[in-house]
Amino acid sequence: MGRKVLVLGEAREGALRHVSFEAIAAGATVAEGGEVVGVLVGKGVKNLGDELIHYGANRVIVTEHDDLDSYTSDGYAQALLAVIQEEKPEAIIFGHTALGKDLSPKLAARLDKGLISDVTALEAAGGNLVFTRPIYSGKAFEKKISTEDFIFATIRPNNISALEKDTNRTGDVKEFDVEIKNLRTIVKEVVRKATQGVDLSEAKVVIAGGRGVKSEDGFKPLEDLADVLGGAVGASRGACDAEYCDYSLQIGQTGKVVTPDLYIACGISGAIQHLAGMSNSKVIVAINKDAEANIFKVADYGIVGDLFEVVPLLTEEFKKLKV
Ligand code: FAD
Repeated sequence: MGRKVLVLGEAREGALRHVSFEAIAAGATVAEGGEVVGVLVGKGVKNLGDELIHYGANRVIVTEHDDLDSYTSDGYAQALLAVIQEEKPEAIIFGHTALGKDLSPKLAARLDKGLISDVTALEAAGGNLVFTRPIYSGKAFEKKISTEDFIFATIRPNNISALEKDTNRTGDVKEFDVEIKNLRTIVKEVVRKATQGVDLSEAKVVIAGGRGVKSEDGFKPLEDLADVLGGAVGASRGACDAEYCDYSLQIGQTGKVVTPDLYIACGISGAIQHLAGMSNSKVIVAINKDAEANIFKVADYGIVGDLFEVVPLLTEEFKKLKV
């Protein structure tokens, strides 16, 4: 029997964000043998439909509109509500991204449904679907089951594995016309602050700098290491407050939450608010001059030393491994 699950595919600059494929995999678990329907909202996104199918969606619905070119919660909510009305799904899965965090509570309220947010693991156990999510800034995890038949969940990027891509998979990619009206927000221009390259929230490797980098230029060795490892650069609030980097790089309780395979903290003391954004990384390496720094308590590997000596050495060694 199973459920019909609607999964939002998130596109950015003409490409799908990887969390979309992870959401499809979560959707397949929630569907329990039912149907996974991918949804694409935007403008010029139809060509991305097949990729959702390759990652496991049974079919894809595309809602395109001039007013959906840039994200607005108003516009996307209207489009998705129209799709939901038409499809009558029994579950909805979004990525727990900036967009997902903004849109999901709005939709849940409109649908009068509960929302299980920031899910890091999902399993079928004892006849229930059990959702694991962090609480108390990642210091503990709770397991939740939905008390309603309807399930609405957002999944944290980099935690649920995507299914294997299979380009032989086929499925319908259908356009669905929506009417967008009375938008209260119009996006006139999008000014990108973050540097180009790997998206921090989805990066498999994050090299983060703290106040210990001492200046804007102090981030250069971290950027070099990130380049070699194909990772993204992040920062503590200490570094952002000191104007060494942009706030878009901030990781922590009031910044981004990241769960990379490898997190290298350089010159970061390990304040509780910083740990809230990175302590669930799979492997944590800390580089700090102070052997008593709190960051070493969560680190799998600790290097007591000057980051300006250690980071370039690491970069050189990783370069050798690449040749
Ligand atoms: P510091 O605590 O000053 O640490 C710098 C570290 O660098 C030290 O451990 C030092 O030994 C080391 N160091 C110095 N020179 C070198 C060198 N050459 N080589 C190696 N190591 C060196 N913080 C966040 O990060 N994210 C948040 O989201 C966040 N939200 C907050 C929300 C609230 C409500 C509040 C009150 C605070 C928040 N903070 C947040 C701030 C947090 O409490 C800390 O002040 C901040 O994380 C400290 O940044 P830091 O570790 O870079 O700086």
